[in-house]
Amino acid sequence: MIRTMRPVIVAGNWKMHTTPADAGDLARTIEARTRVDGVVRVLCPPYVCLAAVRDALAGSDVAVGAQDVHHEATGAYTGAISAPMLAGLATWTIVGHSERRRDACETDELIGRKVVAARGAGLRTILCVGEELADREAGRAREVVDRQLWGSLGPADPATFGGDDPIGFSIAYEPVWAIGTGRNARGSDAADMIGAIRATLAAIGFGAGGEDVPVLYGGSVASSNIDEFMAEPSIDGALVGGASLKPDEMAAIVARAGLTAAARAAAVA
Ligand code: PEP
Repeated sequence: MIRTMRPVIVAGNWKMHTTPADAGDLARTIEARTRVDGVVRVLCPPYVCLAAVRDALAGSDVAVGAQDVHHEATGAYTGAISAPMLAGLATWTIVGHSERRRDACETDELIGRKVVAARGAGLRTILCVGEELADREAGRAREVVDRQLWGSLGPADPATFGGDDPIGFSIAYEPVWAIGTGRNARGSDAADMIGAIRATLAAIGFGAGGEDVPVLYGGSVASSNIDEFMAEPSIDGALVGGASLKPDEMAAIVARAGLTAAARAAAVA
């Protein structure tokens, strides 16, 4: 049951794809194909494409997000981009993506500092969590995600995360084995995990039993499987990787998400 009407969010993570020369056109095309009431749309291009995408989306309600931020505001961190530097370029950021955990050895503690830095700079923040295949097969999936949440969010004051903004802070449950593999989780398994995530958020100190925090599913989301996730009342949308580069796919995904948004709106009307 939905206690509060949580927003429905579809965020596209373009990863290391597109260039400043072509990102604007892609963003414009996706924006035009995804105009659906009630769905919060976010596109996260590479840093170097942020300005082009911002310009292309000017006047639309599609938000621009970064794919990561540094945990410090300034300093001797070659190659890094901080949250305050994104002012005027992005209003959202992803943090803790499994590809950053894997490639940049990001720890839960560091990721927690990134969340605090991003929220402190006013960026709407999507924190990614998720288990590896070996963890799931060994029955340790919940334990791993629980540890990620406590390790990143436990040390901070939950009141600083979302604040009054219902989309200020959200979580993406992304089982690592489902990312970019074409092998998505089952909707019911994702919903079970998301129930556990909210229980952990409540234990950490988030108000309303974690029920106010939007939780997305990510991992090989496509037009062919989005319904399975949006049918679950606990799932509030999707973080889409590969399919977010394909306007046809994004159009279908956002359209299906829009049905859930409309049903939620009707349920509280
Ligand atoms: C992602 O990048 O967060 C993701 C889920 O990728 P994909 O949809 O390609 O699995």
